Amino acid sequence: MIEQRLAHARRETPEAEAWLELLEAALEQSEDGAAWEAAVPTVATDRPVKAPLLSCAHITVDGRAARGWVRRLLKLVAHDNGRRIDGVALLEAALCLDDAGIDRLTAGAGADPQAVRVVGQMAVLPLLQACGRGLAPEVPVTWWEGYCPLCGAWPVVAEYTGLERKRQLRCGRCGTGWAIPLLRCVFCDEIQHDNLAYLTPEGGEQTRKVEVCNTCQGYLKAVTTVRAAAPWAILLDDLMTVPLDVAALERGYRRPERPGYALAARVLEDGGGGWRMWRP
Ligand SMILES: [Zn+2]
Ligand SMILES: [Zn+2]
Repeated sequence: MIEQRLAHARRETPEAEAWLELLEAALEQSEDGAAWEAAVPTVATDRPVKAPLLSCAHITVDGRAARGWVRRLLKLVAHDNGRRIDGVALLEAALCLDDAGIDRLTAGAGADPQAVRVVGQMAVLPLLQACGRGLAPEVPVTWWEGYCPLCGAWPVVAEYTGLERKRQLRCGRCGTGWAIPLLRCVFCDEIQHDNLAYLTPEGGEQTRKVEVCNTCQGYLKAVTTVRAAAPWAILLDDLMTVPLDVAALERGYRRPERPGYALAARVLEDGGGGWRMWRP
């Protein structure tokens, strides 16, 4: 199934080949991801009400395996041997959606910062998907924030599923879904219907549309579907619906650059006798 979807995406979007190669590697890594399952942290019970599950989490990974994994992805795309970028620190920055942190790691390594940001997000995907599976029972039943209750990212898509067209937001990183029943802007909480609208292709299929907010100029893609997408399929669907992004961008709408919630989580490594290099 994954293989078929990837092959289809390659035919439809040959320009995204480099990105698809990274995604394929990340999904494979996620499939046989016993090491990542072992890294799923216990959740802090004393976190603030609006903090996602991974907020302030301490995640311990197998340092050697994690560095090897990150290096493999860096080689694929950044044409860098990856030895000058700290793989564990990159996982941490990507987990926390800390683009400035990623840029600091990239500076001096001679790699393309944009490429390293993409590598970072793909590198942390197996860990986040493992957390999505392992921590699913702990996701709060009611969650009113626009960002992911598990990892703090903005949703990639709003799914309208079933006969009653229940609106569920989906995270492209950990795959978590959370329901926000009413039409409300996920980025700025606008609920005045005068300021919210849909973009739909004229005369085209009505199963896909874009929810836009005229208060913050944010947009979110939306799809009507029989059943919720599998966690691994969300990013592939995101790629296949780029024409919706183009339509929104052309009309002046944007996805916010700031993360939904800055996690302040740590990625630590075991082994090495308990020593770790700390950045000042
Ligand atoms: Zn998430
Ligand atoms: Zn808004």
